Amino acid sequence: MELAMVNDQIVPIEEARIYAHDRGLYFGDGVYEVIASCGGKLFALERHLQRLEYSLREMQMLSKVDMAQVRERVERAFEEAGIAEAKVYFHITRGRALRAHEYAEDWQPSFLLTVRELTRSQPATVPAITHPDWRWKRCDIKSLNLLANVLAKNAATQAGAAEAILVDEDGMVTEGTSTSVLMIQNRVLRTAPLRANILAGITRVLVLEWAGEFGLEVREESFGVSEVQQGDELFLTGTTTGVQGVSQLDGQPIAEGKAGTYTQQFRQRLDQAMNEG
Ligand code: PLP
Repeated sequence: MELAMVNDQIVPIEEARIYAHDRGLYFGDGVYEVIASCGGKLFALERHLQRLEYSLREMQMLSKVDMAQVRERVERAFEEAGIAEAKVYFHITRGRALRAHEYAEDWQPSFLLTVRELTRSQPATVPAITHPDWRWKRCDIKSLNLLANVLAKNAATQAGAAEAILVDEDGMVTEGTSTSVLMIQNRVLRTAPLRANILAGITRVLVLEWAGEFGLEVREESFGVSEVQQGDELFLTGTTTGVQGVSQLDGQPIAEGKAGTYTQQFRQRLDQAMNEG
């Protein structure tokens, strides 16, 4: 059953209520994670908790958050929901306070979690658009501030596309609104390096770890939008997206619009890893 958890308390999903004066609501002052499950097991839980710890540290929030308690809440809510293929979303904000930019020394974290059904059978390929990357300069932190992502994703939806691929001021691809973006050309797998301008995607790093199994060389170097059309394959990765080929970019077909051979191999490899838990 889909459910929510507010701080320590599990409630029906529709009945989750939070206090109005929360810094998450006023400022997006908080961090989040999304974890997928398969066959009743949370996938890559440790990696997600490590990334959460990084985000919390960079936000100067870690000293107030008990990571063992976070893990216990995630596991307890997931078990209680009893959904085999679920997406577990949770966020931690800098807590309750009347609106003021500066925060009090004695702030206490607020925690909100949902467990919902996950549809894992996503289409093998989707159309995408390009969109300017309007985000802030610390996209390595998985913060609640997602306004630029929301606007870009909505532009994609309006254009009949599934994802917006974000492009920086130099014409280089950073990532998608909720996905990492990778391309393959002549057996070389390329994706933007981990700097402050992208999130360290967990599916991204798994794909990079598996690339050698398929005889691909990995180069963590940015590529420009202008290079995409010369590539053999372009694909997206993410916790709820899995591995998904891009069939068209701004209406131009990529690799004849079909899921590339390597993209399909990575899809299968991810399925296998998720089934193994
Ligand atoms: N990039 C951004 C901006 C994201 O929001 C996400 C996931 O939400 C990803 C990449 C993919 O990361 P992961 O594979 O860890 O889900």
